[in-house]
Amino acid sequence: SEDKLKEVISHAKEYGYVFPSSEIYDGLSATYDYGQLGVELKNNIKKYWWSAMVQMNDEIVGLDAAIFMHPKTWKASGHTEAFNDPMIDNKDSKKRYRADVLVEEFIEKYREKIAKDVEKGKKRFGDDFDVEQFLATNPNVKRNQAKIDELEAKLETVFQSGDLTQLKAMIDDLGIACPVSGSKNWTEVRQFNLMFSTELGSVADDSSTIYLRPETAQGIFVNFLNVQKTGRMKIPFGIAQIGKAFRNEIVARQFIFRMREFEQMEMQYFVRPGEELKWYEHWKEKRNKWHKALGLGEEFYRDHDHIQLAHYANAASDIEFDFPMGFKELEGIHSRTDFDLKAHEEHSGKKLQFFDPELKKSYVPYVVETSVGLDRMFLAVFSASLKNETLEDGSERVVLSIPPALAPYKVAVMPLTKKGCLPEKAMEIIDELKFDFNCQYDEKDSIGKRYRRQDAIGTPFHVTVDHQTLEDNTVTIRDRDTMKQDRVAIADLHSIIEEKVSL
Ligand code: ATP
Repeated sequence: SEDKLKEVISHAKEYGYVFPSSEIYDGLSATYDYGQLGVELKNNIKKYWWSAMVQMNDEIVGLDAAIFMHPKTWKASGHTEAFNDPMIDNKDSKKRYRADVLVEEFIEKYREKIAKDVEKGKKRFGDDFDVEQFLATNPNVKRNQAKIDELEAKLETVFQSGDLTQLKAMIDDLGIACPVSGSKNWTEVRQFNLMFSTELGSVADDSSTIYLRPETAQGIFVNFLNVQKTGRMKIPFGIAQIGKAFRNEIVARQFIFRMREFEQMEMQYFVRPGEELKWYEHWKEKRNKWHKALGLGEEFYRDHDHIQLAHYANAASDIEFDFPMGFKELEGIHSRTDFDLKAHEEHSGKKLQFFDPELKKSYVPYVVETSVGLDRMFLAVFSASLKNETLEDGSERVVLSIPPALAPYKVAVMPLTKKGCLPEKAMEIIDELKFDFNCQYDEKDSIGKRYRRQDAIGTPFHVTVDHQTLEDNTVTIRDRDTMKQDRVAIADLHSIIEEKVSL
């Protein structure tokens, strides 16, 4: 809900996770800075992705390509011509929307109706309720499903034709109203190119116009042969990259979900032509597992298979996440065919082929891509972890139950008081642990307040040094999630923490 999103935004700011960019100048829209804790969480997400993709897969290697690329790159990829969003303005509210998204959201309402009917049935009939049977036979469901099919088919035809007047007609015919003003007074639909341009060098003419990359993928495609040859890679193999991308998003709202400067974690997997759908299924499953292994809860995820395919794709699916604004795309898995490599062959005049020793022939490989937004991943982890809990004694606490492996600090070490060498002892413990874990020293306020603060920033372990520690080298260790405290030997801390923070 909107309230939940507000809570997330204010918590992220209050605890140094995310700040509005250049805030002292009132911020810059759809741009954000990651603070002292945000950068740690972001780096940990990158590590989690990189180890799962590059370290754990012998046939996948990394790359770090430049953000600036030769302008012909974007001609070949189609971005110069076709990286547009169809936008429509409401004349009364003066708000601008993606026209296709307006229609999709309209269709979504029918899906919600079906979901509600199913919920009702479950409540009424409990275990006896046969969902499949209900979906196939209930007249309400059938009517709503027919409407969904009809509208989706229509949207598909509109996309195929690329005729924007048809999209506008659809919005008018369906009587779609502006979400803000409720008005149905729309402008025509117009295309906006999403690439940022700038000039290379000092002379501004057409030939010097270059772009900030709108996706990291093209840096991988143009380096396909460099990596394949120097890495002696055999198909199938993959190239992975984490890096910034820039899009002049027209409708830039919803915090770090849709930014103008953001980061992508992409992997392009090069395969034999004809085998791409097998690998597409393989990666769809693998990427789903990767997300779910974090333990945020399976109910946060769903697959959304595309019916409307981009011009370069022969299969595509999104892994959607239940963000505070509802289910939205977190990651895309696309079977991109040989579209990109063929286009680069054509525009560069260079062959981008692989000689397959088993088949004894050369070909342009097909590509299966997995592409996840780092900032969206951040928002997913952060929003699903932020909880208000009512405790047994009736008091409340805010806890950020970030998966321990991703938490910025793994352990907070606190002296019970500032007296009697307790701070020195706490620092000694940190000096032992800090080579392997990011630790925080905290001596301000009462111990109860410090616990609450560590709960709120998501630190999984809280170690307290007291007078007994000086006698027998034991400490209390408190678990963020259960709030249980145990007395343990300092010598055991490392293995206790290690067990929980490794994935
Ligand atoms: P959307 O439909 O939400 O605009 P997209 O389909 O254009 O996304 P892709 O081009 O497939 O997105 O990009 C791959 C991934 O990059 C997305 O799944 C998303 O996680 C991330 N991403 C795309 N645009 C943005 C943005 N403006 N801000 C943050 N992350 C983004």
